[in-house]
Amino acid sequence: MTSLLPYEEALAAVLAACRPVGTERVPLAAASGRVLAAAPHVRDPIPPFANSAMDGFAVAAGDVPAGGGTLPLDPPVPAGTAPAPLRPGHAAPIATGGPLPDGADAVVPIEDAAVADGAVRFSAGVAAGAHVRVVGSDLPVGPSPLRVGVPLDPADGALLATVGATEVEVFRRPRIAILATGQELVPPERTPGPAQIRESNTTALAWSYARLGADVRPLGIAADEPGPLRRLLEEALTADLVVTSAGVSVGERDLVRGALNDLGVEPRFWGVDLKPGKPVAFGVAGDTPVLSLPGNPASTLVTSTLIAEPAVRRRGGWAVPGPAFEHATAGGRWPAAQGRLHAIRCALSDGDRGPVATPTGDQRSHRIGSMVGAGALALVEAGREIRPGDAVRITRL
Ligand code: AMP
Ligand code: MG
Repeated sequence: MTSLLPYEEALAAVLAACRPVGTERVPLAAASGRVLAAAPHVRDPIPPFANSAMDGFAVAAGDVPAGGGTLPLDPPVPAGTAPAPLRPGHAAPIATGGPLPDGADAVVPIEDAAVADGAVRFSAGVAAGAHVRVVGSDLPVGPSPLRVGVPLDPADGALLATVGATEVEVFRRPRIAILATGQELVPPERTPGPAQIRESNTTALAWSYARLGADVRPLGIAADEPGPLRRLLEEALTADLVVTSAGVSVGERDLVRGALNDLGVEPRFWGVDLKPGKPVAFGVAGDTPVLSLPGNPASTLVTSTLIAEPAVRRRGGWAVPGPAFEHATAGGRWPAAQGRLHAIRCALSDGDRGPVATPTGDQRSHRIGSMVGAGALALVEAGREIRPGDAVRITRL
């Protein structure tokens, strides 16, 4: 690990090796949150027929004098069937969404009308087009406003239903293999023996990638032995992206890079100018990117947020892989970060000038406690001392 790669270059190298996985067609009801791969065309204008925006009376605007007047009533416009034409000089009761009859070009709301003896009295004139929703005024024929590479939200679902897109082309969920390494680790359901600890990185990574819509494949724990490590990594390499934790530093039992090498994974970089996160390694096996993250729980989550999550998004077809950065105001004084770009776990609160970021205490990388309650990571350049009120670059967690 002689020279450390700047974080932005490491991220760019990872993203450059992450192609979006293929696409599939799913029923509309199953498309919530899926990443759109092809936006449907709007074939018929929405609304498809001129209709009333109010409960009221359909009229020809020219039949209502400027100062108001009284018109005889036609039968009410029925919902869901094409109405008879409006007779000249008449007004027809109409409900919101009711089709405007031929001969009508405006609607007078019920609030501005009084019915008596088979006629309706309007207190004022009405402009042509008033309270009428014209054909195509919501969605004209043409490309839909949906964007490829964005997870579908409920509003998108409403649009898809409206244009009759009962099958939706989305990106397949990327399969993400997650492998913990370390012979001191036991699964969370086991009671640790002497010098053992419960394994927590798999849970953190699986939860985070599941939130991004990935098909998460936890492969368990590999002991620091070449044989078992190799077997599990081999299985992992059948996924769309592999994320391992631990065993990637400079210790004698840090075997992950060697095992990946033996399996033909082509190394791209090892060592990032990031604290925590220096030992991150990256390689590629065919189409499968392999990220090896450090094992300390805070290091794992920080590097996952800054490097692995963008890879998961890109594999899943997201147009914008992140991380998204914004500015916050520093709460309190932060000591200067030495040596490397520092990812500081921060709690966020509301301030007069937007979010205020305050470090979550002891930032040592074994501390899960430094991650819990952290709403953001602040990236602070080496040597920069932060005073209260300074602007800091954050990404939300
Ligand atoms: P390593 O990168 O293998 O040197 O591990 C660094 C530290 O992280 C050690 O204290 C490990 O016990 C701890 N660690 C590694 N993997 C995990 C894990 N999956 N869950 C919890 N702690 C871990
Ligand atoms: Mg280890």
